[in-house]
Amino acid sequence: MRDVVIIGSGCAGLTAAIYSGRANLKPLVIRGHEAGGQLSLTTLVENYPGFPKGVQGPELIEMMQKQAAEFGAEFLEGNVTRVDLSRRPFTLEMGEKRLETRTLIIASGATAKMLGLESERKLLGHGVSTCATCDGYFFRGKPVAVVGGGDTAAEEATFLTRYATEVTLIHRRDQLRASKIMQDRILRNEKIKPLWNSVVVDVLDVAKSEVTGVKLKNTVTGEETVMPTHGLFIGIGHSPNTDLFRGQLEMNEVGYLKTHDGAKTNVPGVFAAGDVQDSVYRQAVTAAGSGCMAAIDAERFLEAEE
Ligand code: NAP
Repeated sequence: MRDVVIIGSGCAGLTAAIYSGRANLKPLVIRGHEAGGQLSLTTLVENYPGFPKGVQGPELIEMMQKQAAEFGAEFLEGNVTRVDLSRRPFTLEMGEKRLETRTLIIASGATAKMLGLESERKLLGHGVSTCATCDGYFFRGKPVAVVGGGDTAAEEATFLTRYATEVTLIHRRDQLRASKIMQDRILRNEKIKPLWNSVVVDVLDVAKSEVTGVKLKNTVTGEETVMPTHGLFIGIGHSPNTDLFRGQLEMNEVGYLKTHDGAKTNVPGVFAAGDVQDSVYRQAVTAAGSGCMAAIDAERFLEAEE
């Protein structure tokens, strides 16, 4: 039986692992299906304190993982398929494998949202992507498009200008939601062409198993047009990874876990950290901070029991 199991290996999970490792609790980190979390899918992080010149997201994650391992954290590849939080110790299943733990820290993060089009689903990995860092290289010398108007879309579009000949930023309104600095960066970049008041209604061409263009609809005039492109990057935000906990933990209306008094959930001994419980700030540094809180809460919970 474990004292602390952490679900998720992003910034929140790894910070929780560093803290509970230093508290001698030998945490087990279950890495999950998007190991390293969203930081491992990003490029330069300029707002994480301590790095005046910025740091690459994957490098930051690697350093955190090493730091956690240094203090005795153990790592397990794979996904949790079922949890039972109704009695203690809590049980977790990973396929055939079964684990028991006295406390659980949930840091399972959030996953990229999709537009919900059949063609988008069919062409995912064949020209449709949710990660410019992962797939941008495949589009060198070609025009691509990014959907969204927030920081994610702005970051994806900026990154893609390294490879693509032109990046069309398709946004459903005529104003960006992205932070001022990111807005300035894209509006100044000659390779990025914003396309306002437009939504993607279809991705072409499923029959060819590759992206050849997108069918667009103008949200003001209703007019439909086809724009040729080789790649479509979806940058419209994220949903929390909380399906496993439905019916067992309190969540808000869009599925983010509810926490109170630090990182506590409604089940004593279960704590939540990072994007899985934060629909507002969603920053690497706030995820790290809440990972620290969850580890300290778990440690105090175990201490109080003893
Ligand atoms: P976001 O701020 O919620 O923006 C999502 C964007 O996608 C919005 O512009 C939204 O349009 C659009 N959108 C949503 N659903 C859509 C749909 N079905 N079809 C078309 N467009 C759709 O999400 P985010 O950009 O992922 O950012 C989330 C948080 O992470 C923010 O706090 C952000 O600051 C932070 N973040 C920071 C960085 C950084 O600092 N480097 C990088 C990435 C993210 P509307 O504007 O019309 O709603």
